[in-house]
Amino acid sequence: MAYLKGMRMTVLASGSKGNSTVIASDRTRVLVDAGLSCRELLRRMEIAGEDASRLDAILITHEHVDHVAGLAVLARRLGIPVYFTEPTHRAWVRMLTPRTTLTYAKWLELRQAEKQAKAAAVPCYEPTAPAVEMEDVPAACGEPDASEGAGGEAQVPVGLDGELDGLPEAEPVRARVKADPAYLPAVEYFRAGHRFAIGDLEICPFTIPHDAADPCGFVFESGGIRMALATDLGYLPPNVKAALKRIDVLLLESNHDLEMLRDGPYPWSVKQRVLSRVGHLSNETTAEFLQRDYDGGAAYIVLGHLSESNNAPELARITAERAIGDRMTLLGNRVLLAMQAEPLAAIQL
Ligand SMILES: [Zn+2]
Ligand SMILES: [Zn+2]
Repeated sequence: MAYLKGMRMTVLASGSKGNSTVIASDRTRVLVDAGLSCRELLRRMEIAGEDASRLDAILITHEHVDHVAGLAVLARRLGIPVYFTEPTHRAWVRMLTPRTTLTYAKWLELRQAEKQAKAAAVPCYEPTAPAVEMEDVPAACGEPDASEGAGGEAQVPVGLDGELDGLPEAEPVRARVKADPAYLPAVEYFRAGHRFAIGDLEICPFTIPHDAADPCGFVFESGGIRMALATDLGYLPPNVKAALKRIDVLLLESNHDLEMLRDGPYPWSVKQRVLSRVGHLSNETTAEFLQRDYDGGAAYIVLGHLSESNNAPELARITAERAIGDRMTLLGNRVLLAMQAEPLAAIQL
């Protein structure tokens, strides 16, 4: 698909079952989070007109499974670097490394927590959840050009299930993945509060309050256009409010309606987690931000990470639109909803 100059945001999925967004400038394309299987990510990119073989990097906000489920397989499949903070990378590696030193009591505790989480369909999995989807993904997922280019061996389709027998060139990667399930073609570290660049894309990561090792939101800037992602946060501290100034496209969490969550199906402990200062933003908190702190300058506000059990899309939209009030015009502050089941049409500025 041909795009005009500028920037583009394509939300491939948003919610507790998986998050992923393409951010593109004139010359650079990155994927923020890879929370669906590799196969599904490639399928959605194709539907949305995004060429996966032209991605330059994957950036990770935090290590919860709904943000990293397809990460290892996709990164190895495309042979591209993955950007993390160091604590997030470490937490992710721990998740993929089999635990051999668990005490029985700890194991039992984990099993119970898992059972509870499963029963409640928790909005965002705990970092300790051992369920990582890598094994579910068949060796060759999707079909971006894997024939050659930088990355060499890493571009060979790789699974963990030995489906590559008979492909001798895959052997080195297979062996590496067997020895190290967290093997990636390349890892780059960034730090919250420190700008960095990939190609012509300027990136400013900022710390968000959430129950993960070192969670971040991002502001992306290129050619004078600024796009931001802020989901998975319990509240909006001053550093986040400051980061979200002068944004043209803002993907902001609107996770739950307070009343629906209170009366909803989650166990009390999970409700407490979602409501906590390191949980998720409610429609009400997001509305308060839009009314009081937001500078009104965005062309689009995209509401994301909507809970399927404790929210209704129209309720989230109406609550945000009311808060924006008469600043909503044909050219400004249009409210869109990023959904779980299908990609949102590309937003081009
Ligand atoms: Zn999440
Ligand atoms: Zn999370």
